[in-house]
Amino acid sequence: MDPRQYEKYSRQILFAGLGEAGQESLLRANAVLVGCGALGTTVANLLVRAGLGRLRIIDRYFVEPSNLQRQTLFEETDARDALPKAIAAERRLRAINFDAAIAGIVSDVTPENAEDLLAGHSLILDGTDNFATRLLLNDYAVSSGIPWIYAAAVSSYGVTMTILPQETACLACLLETSSAGVETDAAMDAAAAAAPAGFEATCDTVGVLNAAIGVIASVQAAEATKFLAGKRETLNDRLVACDVWKGRFQSIRVARNPDCRACARRNFTYLAGKSQPHISMCGRDSVQIHEHRRRLDLGELRARLAPAVAEVRHNDFLLRFRVPPYEMTIFPDGRAIIKGTQDPAIARSLYARYISA
Ligand SMILES: [Zn+2]
Repeated sequence: MDPRQYEKYSRQILFAGLGEAGQESLLRANAVLVGCGALGTTVANLLVRAGLGRLRIIDRYFVEPSNLQRQTLFEETDARDALPKAIAAERRLRAINFDAAIAGIVSDVTPENAEDLLAGHSLILDGTDNFATRLLLNDYAVSSGIPWIYAAAVSSYGVTMTILPQETACLACLLETSSAGVETDAAMDAAAAAAPAGFEATCDTVGVLNAAIGVIASVQAAEATKFLAGKRETLNDRLVACDVWKGRFQSIRVARNPDCRACARRNFTYLAGKSQPHISMCGRDSVQIHEHRRRLDLGELRARLAPAVAEVRHNDFLLRFRVPPYEMTIFPDGRAIIKGTQDPAIARSLYARYISA
């Protein structure tokens, strides 16, 4: 550490739990963040300010005005320009801390690319908003022995849990076990935030308070800081649940399931890709299509579409146009988000008509 860095991180070095050695470790550490929405921007902001050496940020979406209430790295202009979240976050974090190496990647994490995107990182941070992706992350983390930190927040409550493969319970132990080892009166909230697909309350259906995000992302960031600073023995071995509206905080012991599909039987169904559809719901009133992996030339697509559709706009990262009442956003990897419908059949026919044609 040079004198400039010593001064920059002095308040953290003074903290006895970290000290100079902990700060040195943090500056050399690397992590990958999957999903850069409310939790993701908050945890990335905290870790990059704390001096995390390298951070890869993977996100599939773009900034919208309704994000700004809680996604703390983004500004009005990012929403106006429809910048991908991974790119907007990378730019902002670089300005926040010149020491950090930040790489934003605009992509979904899928069974096919999980290894390419996640391998080589010492910690995986959950910033996702759905359990299909979280269970995929859990499968990848458990199969490759990489620790990860699960986090979720919705409404006024949230949960987070540090998962050390083969040491602690994994997410499948928590979600796929009927009793789940969770038996306190926070169980209802934790269960609501940790419900299996199909029963999820989401930020798009019941909303979310930015304060709930701040608390859970901070607990997640503290755990990440301990791990990345080499203080593994100080990690919390409990699921932390809080409700900022009711002012209730609890930590809950989650037992490992000796018959867990993932960490005991090593049956990695999500990583095997059997459960990853090419069409997925993507927030309220939109559908994502990722049917074929071919590169699209956005400039060429724009020229082709301009006579036929309204308000075609494109930047370096995406192309957007309107086919009232729908709005389509197309990424160079062929992925599309169709807004204005929840019907996969409509989304598929729009995709076929305008993109596959
Ligand atoms: Zn397990």
